[in-house]
Amino acid sequence: MGKVILTGDRPTGKLHLGHYVGSLRGRVELQNAGGYDRMFVFIADVQALTDNAANPEKVRQNVLEVALDYLSVGLDPDKVTIFIQSMVPQLHEITQYFSNLVTVARLQRNPTVKTEIKMRGFGEEGQELSFGSGVPVGFFTYPISQAADICFCKATTVPVGEDQEPMLEQCREIVRSFNSTYGPVLVEPEILLPSNTACRRLPGTDGKAKMSKSLGNCIYLSDDPSEVKKKVMSMFTDPGHLRVEDPGKVEGNPVFVYLDAFCEASDFERFWPDYASLDEVKDHYRRGGLGDVKCKKFLLNVLNDRLEPIRARRHQWEQDIPGVYDILRKGSAEAEKVAAQTLYEMREAMKINYFNDAALIAEQAEKYRR
Ligand code: ATP
Ligand code: MG
Repeated sequence: MGKVILTGDRPTGKLHLGHYVGSLRGRVELQNAGGYDRMFVFIADVQALTDNAANPEKVRQNVLEVALDYLSVGLDPDKVTIFIQSMVPQLHEITQYFSNLVTVARLQRNPTVKTEIKMRGFGEEGQELSFGSGVPVGFFTYPISQAADICFCKATTVPVGEDQEPMLEQCREIVRSFNSTYGPVLVEPEILLPSNTACRRLPGTDGKAKMSKSLGNCIYLSDDPSEVKKKVMSMFTDPGHLRVEDPGKVEGNPVFVYLDAFCEASDFERFWPDYASLDEVKDHYRRGGLGDVKCKKFLLNVLNDRLEPIRARRHQWEQDIPGVYDILRKGSAEAEKVAAQTLYEMREAMKINYFNDAALIAEQAEKYRR
């Protein structure tokens, strides 16, 4: 069997640089390289509602924003099926059968769920997750629903950031459990992390471990140059690097992590001919004598250069919003066909496909004839 690529994003805000380097850029590269059977990208509105139940309007607005971000980074609806999660009802039924194969204890051990519960303020600091806590059931079980999102198309390859590793591991366990319990229907997916380690978990502009919509420390793909400038110039750097002549730290310094993630060899000639490579800049910063402002100005030029074509494509698609919804409608219908086929095979393996099971009907009839 060939390669089936799948990824998705929660419509809880516009997409940011973390999404771009962690996943979007890789998706576009995969799309353009070809050599796969199918590629799916979806907007995870059902998952977004698990911690935004009281705010469906936010989710509703951001479905379009995420779709625009997809098209603006260069995902091509002729090559990739783009769909909305809630428009594929089979995903719920798959989730239900999967949830019988996962224990509460296993979900409680999922490290991403633990971190996110703290981030979203559901649980108290240091308190073990328990049935008494304020975590919605839907949120607690979203890794199961995410496994259904991956399995409906028998995805083989999931290009995501490293926060998704525990989710992929949980999904693989569910696939093994389903296949050994009922029969070999599903496919174990592989995670595809960015080869550049700076891209696996891009820090926030505040220096926190992860740029995240929920933490408000993001540079968005749709930010205009003046917003990007404001954010870059006020970015956290090395707090020990007070005077220009002080030695500075580049490890964990978000300015340098972003440069690691975005900078290309040709950028020096174009924007900072004093240096020939990022290693030279880092050495100077470490030695002392190189100020933050100079590094930030270079970063700003690099970022704006990468963001400019994305902004231009977004602007074009913004002139055709009904066309964007048409793409989502068509993509959702295609995804539904694929999901229906997988669900058919699952039900067949589980032997709950009553009306298509001639042997069952004959066997029961025979039993009562005697
Ligand atoms: P939320 O705070 O609502 O969870 P988020 O910013 O974490 O939003 P998601 O929609 O959960 O974004 O993530 C979508 C994809 O982007 C995932 O593949 C995830 O690994 C990747 N991703 C998100 N943030 C980063 C980051 N800072 N660095 C690398 N990859 C990231
Ligand atoms: Mg997230």
